[in-house]
Amino acid sequence: MISESDARAKILETVRPLPSRQLSILSALGQFAARDYFARFPLPMFDNSAMDGYAVIAADCRKGARLRVVGEQPAGTDRKLYVAKGNVVRIFTGASMPAGADAVVMQEDVTRLEDEIVINAEVEAGDFIRQRGCDLGEGQRILAAGEGIAAATAALLVSQGFDEIGVGGEVPVAIISTGDELANPGEKLQPGQIYDSNSTLLQALVQRAGAVVASKLQCRDEADSLRKAFEGSSGNEIVIVTGGVSVGAHDLVQGTLRNLGAKIDIWRVAIKPGKPFLFGQLGNSLVFGLPGNPVSAFVTFLQFVRPAVLKMMGAADLQLPKASARLTVDLNNESDRAHYFRGRTGRGHFTPIGRQESHALFGLSQSNALLRLGPGEMRKRDDLVEVELC
Ligand code: AMP
Ligand code: MG
Repeated sequence: MISESDARAKILETVRPLPSRQLSILSALGQFAARDYFARFPLPMFDNSAMDGYAVIAADCRKGARLRVVGEQPAGTDRKLYVAKGNVVRIFTGASMPAGADAVVMQEDVTRLEDEIVINAEVEAGDFIRQRGCDLGEGQRILAAGEGIAAATAALLVSQGFDEIGVGGEVPVAIISTGDELANPGEKLQPGQIYDSNSTLLQALVQRAGAVVASKLQCRDEADSLRKAFEGSSGNEIVIVTGGVSVGAHDLVQGTLRNLGAKIDIWRVAIKPGKPFLFGQLGNSLVFGLPGNPVSAFVTFLQFVRPAVLKMMGAADLQLPKASARLTVDLNNESDRAHYFRGRTGRGHFTPIGRQESHALFGLSQSNALLRLGPGEMRKRDDLVEVELC
């Protein structure tokens, strides 16, 4: 049995980032930039009005002053108007500022007469002007290599005239669920059978990490069935097999892998839940053997498979997002393995949920965070802890 950190290090040293590719901006959501990107234009690109109103010279605008409206500047065009002393230009949000003007007065703050306005508010130079470059300077880095592409990043890239972006490689994943007891959703359960919920759990986790589920196979606890499933999964960067990785009479994953010539690098990790975890290499695929218990599969995926997937995709940050929280109960880890408690965090607190047992899928479904306590670690109610958001 090896430590969790040794296991992660061993896995990550085996993983190589895949070659990058060009994608349209929207297809790149959830992927990671393959290189640094820099601003082609400042933002805003030109001085423009933040309001519907009038472009004015602030010094003309005593309260009660009457000023002549000499033109109209809508958004989307530049009419090259000029504001001379005593004049104003009607202007709209996003329209470029006419030369000569140094402020905008909101339309709510003037009285409009025929072709004049009366100023009803104090006006200072700069009012309601969005200055060129105040948000982003030309040449400034907008995206670092390895950074994730979220909705606002995509919008920023488009605002800079990009219609494609280079991102890390696509990671095809095969999922194999094993067990004589498994039935598919929609099938009628026979006595002793259960639905195969792990393949759905793992597919959801793989997709959420930004990789692609290329195949999903279910097999029985028989060497032949397993061998066929592994052969049918070859060619994928990652093969995840769930169930059958323990040492029971029906746990045939490890033996089958060895017979197929796989190199087993890790077998059993000091983590709870999830001890019977396996990592190896079969042909060009990395193989992750996750325990069949749903909570163990969930925890070992997040702790070991997710970082590997992200590294292949070229992500800079391989860790789960974290938050600080105060414990609402005393919590001890009496085991000699790191224990990941499942629970709920919100408003700065963390409360463990449900039975902390590896089959307890309902409790897991109510959780949104993991708290790791090292072997023998004891925490008291109100202690500040760091939780991983999941
Ligand atoms: P195993 O790792 O094969 O010893 O299985 C451990 C526990 O997980 C058993 O209670 C199995 O019935 C359950 N299990 C295994 N595979 C799945 C699966 N695909 N979906 C849901 N539960 C599973
Ligand atoms: Mg089994």
